[in-house]
Amino acid sequence: MKLKKQVTVCGAAIFCVAVFSLYLMLDRVQHDPTRHQSGGNFPRSQISVLQNRIEQLEQLLEENHEIISHIKDSVLELTAHAEGQPALPQHPLNGSWVLPPESRPSFLSVSPQDCQFALGGKGQSPDLQMLAVYSLLPFDNQDGGVWKQGFDITYEPNEWDTEPLQVFVVPHSHNDPGWIKTFDKYYYDQTQHILNSMVLKMQEDPRRRFIWSEISFFSKWWDNISAQKRAAVRRLVGNGQLEMVTGGWVMPDEANSHYFAMIDQLIEGHQWLEKNIGVTPRSGWAVDPFGYSSTMPYLLKRSNLTAMLIQRVHYAIKKHFAATQNLEFMWRQTWDPDMSTDILCHMMPFYSYDVPHTCGPDPKICCQFDFKRLPGGRINCPWKVPPRAITDANVAERAQLLLDQYRKKSKLYRSKVLLVPLGDDFRYDKPQEWDAQFLNYQRIFDFLNSRPDLHVQAQFGTLSDYFDALYKKVGIVPGMRPPGFPVLTGDFFSYADREDHYWTGYYTSRPFYKSLDRVLEAHLRGAEILYSLALAHARRAGADGRYPLADYALLSNARRNLGLFQHHDAIAGTAKEAVAVDYGVRLLQSLTNLKRVIINAAHYLVLGDKDAYRHDPAAPFLGMDETRSSQDSLPERTVVKLGTSPRFLVVFNPLEQERLSVVPVLVDSPHVRVLSEEGQPLPSQLSAVWNSATDVVPNVYQVSVLARLPALGLRVLQLHKSLDGHPEAVPLHVFPAAADDFCLENQHLQACFLGHTGLLQVSHPPGCCGNHRP
Ligand SMILES: [Zn+2]
Repeated sequence: MKLKKQVTVCGAAIFCVAVFSLYLMLDRVQHDPTRHQSGGNFPRSQISVLQNRIEQLEQLLEENHEIISHIKDSVLELTAHAEGQPALPQHPLNGSWVLPPESRPSFLSVSPQDCQFALGGKGQSPDLQMLAVYSLLPFDNQDGGVWKQGFDITYEPNEWDTEPLQVFVVPHSHNDPGWIKTFDKYYYDQTQHILNSMVLKMQEDPRRRFIWSEISFFSKWWDNISAQKRAAVRRLVGNGQLEMVTGGWVMPDEANSHYFAMIDQLIEGHQWLEKNIGVTPRSGWAVDPFGYSSTMPYLLKRSNLTAMLIQRVHYAIKKHFAATQNLEFMWRQTWDPDMSTDILCHMMPFYSYDVPHTCGPDPKICCQFDFKRLPGGRINCPWKVPPRAITDANVAERAQLLLDQYRKKSKLYRSKVLLVPLGDDFRYDKPQEWDAQFLNYQRIFDFLNSRPDLHVQAQFGTLSDYFDALYKKVGIVPGMRPPGFPVLTGDFFSYADREDHYWTGYYTSRPFYKSLDRVLEAHLRGAEILYSLALAHARRAGADGRYPLADYALLSNARRNLGLFQHHDAIAGTAKEAVAVDYGVRLLQSLTNLKRVIINAAHYLVLGDKDAYRHDPAAPFLGMDETRSSQDSLPERTVVKLGTSPRFLVVFNPLEQERLSVVPVLVDSPHVRVLSEEGQPLPSQLSAVWNSATDVVPNVYQVSVLARLPALGLRVLQLHKSLDGHPEAVPLHVFPAAADDFCLENQHLQACFLGHTGLLQVSHPPGCCGNHRP
């Protein structure tokens, strides 16, 4: 309504300006002294210009009339709707409720510009559409030799003579925030040591690089380190040695997570980084989620990232893209007709993100360059050829062997810049491992870089170092499409890592926790809205001193626990049982805390006299509609006990639209009446509550109230015990089950059921088919 008023005023203003301009123009024509002096003889050309202007003004005037009459119509229409009573079902004497028509449209008109994507065909079509790629592939899983899932790669030694190969070896450590161990156990056993060593070892040589992605771990570590160490970390980030990649709270699962939670965990991580380190991530790193959604590149693009990397893609797709040099592409949304959603994506070509599968096609050789596996260590190479420490005596031979792998891998990509990740799960947790990897690789790099005839430049790099070099080489600014790179639309589900090992069971495993995730998400959104509204009211009333501001910490904590659960072993259900329980405990704790936030905010908002507000944590003003006794128990709905005084029900609508809703409430008596806050009776229906198909829960009834709920608002309802035989209070009889088929019908519909199964057999309007039963 407010907006319409503004439009009215604005329209009227335009109208006035137009009339006034016309007046001024005519006035000027009549009173211009210079024109009088010239005896009123205007040159012909000037007269015609004036005539044109007057015609234009007249036209403008007419248009203004039209606008104003439109506005008048709209205002009249809205006023007519607003004057009507809040439409609730009427209860006529014949005993059936009649639903009123919608009071006013609850949707906004959509401008054609908003849906350009729906027009289709305007932009160029993508080079690669994943559905088409799937139908193209034979999925024959042929043995490719040393690169089992690929093919032989060959090259000419002089291929890099004019343009040398530029190699970026990117040290990384994949830290799952819960999998075999819980989040805390991993932190204490490994992650804190990795990050502590990182600070020391990176400072030993400015040529060293490292990347980190899980902010959940990083923030926990940050809370436990000294100011000097924090300053050192900021320096390492500032000078480009340490890069925070993606910067989400976790590396989320992309199949089960809801986009709300994906965004939430990304915001939580990015805000933490901005606040504590002063950095914004530029590149995405997702080496372990089991398949990739096209939503993630969209979210990363909108978060200002310019490039991203993915790894767990079906081996047949990897092979196909490797053969066609399409492993790097611009990933575009299917609904986007132009390039506004494009983000550069690098797909890793081989089986895994571990060292044996990242230097080149032959894992037997690459494993020899994982210096954590040097003889005498805890792990070795399954291909039976161990790594050897790099010495002056063997560096030439070792470097040549590795360069051969680099060159072969490079043949799968379009540019002469090569990305070689160097890490694995929870790597670099001991200082010796840092030394083994960084010292041996530096010796190889020094050798390669000292031999111009090899036409290679190798170094440690971060992920963005690689993308920057790629962009520099092709001569365009980061974020744009490198010439010749394909555009791809679609996603990378389902994923198989080998043979017929499809990672699809996790779409439905541990469904209880997948459901709890959505419940927490909904409560988090509701609590955030109510807390913000209540706090805004309290501040305006000068009552924020009495409001429980500490609730904000509960909100933050819930966001972080929800974020943690988006991890690719959490919501996916792939973590060990004890770890799943740990997540469950966190989710339940946050759910309970959010209910407190909701109760506190609703309490404040429903009070007519805000001065009467007193927060007493020991005696919450409201109860909640359901409770859970443990992390793995189903919710138990609260039964409202009716007595001599009315019980009040506060209903919250978290949607930004008014809605007509059926609100179900459990009560302990069939004698119940529901009134609005003002005492107006509301239509309701009483139902039995069932233990099983035939057992009724004694003394518990569900009253379903039809109530209109304001947008982003609360509505108070009253529940009264009614002892005077109102028609709402119908005694309930359960008849013994019979095997005969039976039908139910009203004036609109007839539904027939099979007696022995209870399944719906057929339904059709009454009277349509006589007594005939098909
Ligand atoms: Zn992982």
